[in-house]
Amino acid sequence: MPLRRFLAVLASLLLGTATLVAVPTQAQAAPNFKAPYPCGQRWTYSHHSAEVRRALDFVRADGGTTNGTPVLASAAGTAYRFSEPTGAGNYIAIEHGGGWKTYYFHLGQYSVANGAQVAQGQQIGTTGSTGNSSGPHIHYEQLYNGVGQNIVINGSGLAYPGSYNQYYLTSDNGCGGGTGGAFMTWGSGIRVRTDARLSAPVVTTLDGPTSVWVTCQKQGDTVTAEGYTNNWWSKLRDQGGFITNIYIDYPAAQLPGVPVCP
Ligand SMILES: [Zn+2]
Repeated sequence: MPLRRFLAVLASLLLGTATLVAVPTQAQAAPNFKAPYPCGQRWTYSHHSAEVRRALDFVRADGGTTNGTPVLASAAGTAYRFSEPTGAGNYIAIEHGGGWKTYYFHLGQYSVANGAQVAQGQQIGTTGSTGNSSGPHIHYEQLYNGVGQNIVINGSGLAYPGSYNQYYLTSDNGCGGGTGGAFMTWGSGIRVRTDARLSAPVVTTLDGPTSVWVTCQKQGDTVTAEGYTNNWWSKLRDQGGFITNIYIDYPAAQLPGVPVCP
């Protein structure tokens, strides 16, 4: 509270004229969190007795290998890297806004830069066993104002079994787009064109950083902007056109996991 406001409140208290100051007590609506691993994969989860907060540990239960599997952002936000060799290992925290945050512990690798804007379903790391971990798994948490919450995926609260193979969760994270992947854009006033050419008509403009689904990419006109030169363009599913890959927030000229347009 600013000092002047504090003094005013104090004065009104002393004078017996205080009115109640409204304090927000209701939790902000949580993002629609999705499973922290790829679309279609089935994993089992448990909460062990020595577990921190309201975490759940996930391992694959669909015959695939847990170690090295992509770890995905369960909602859009800003990702921060941390390392705690005797505890959480390599981990990422994503700030989703409104007081909500998710944790992904024991990563083998990070897939995004510290402070990167990430889209829901975007790969943020790979599953590993770094730190205090008995084997490859994703230790996953949802926090509200720093307090661990019971984990909710797609609006449904998960169970807290004491061992694996009692409860399973199949991911629909990143399923929505068919082929391609979710990425964040950066910059403002980004023109979406009908084709991968600078002379192609503009269909819409991206006002600022946003989450986009890239269905495919192809080579077109070479664009030089913001200190980059690139001739790869991304086809955006929801905007119905192409933008230069320069404005996709990914360090390489071509995007991973996105096919070349026919
Ligand atoms: Zn854990």
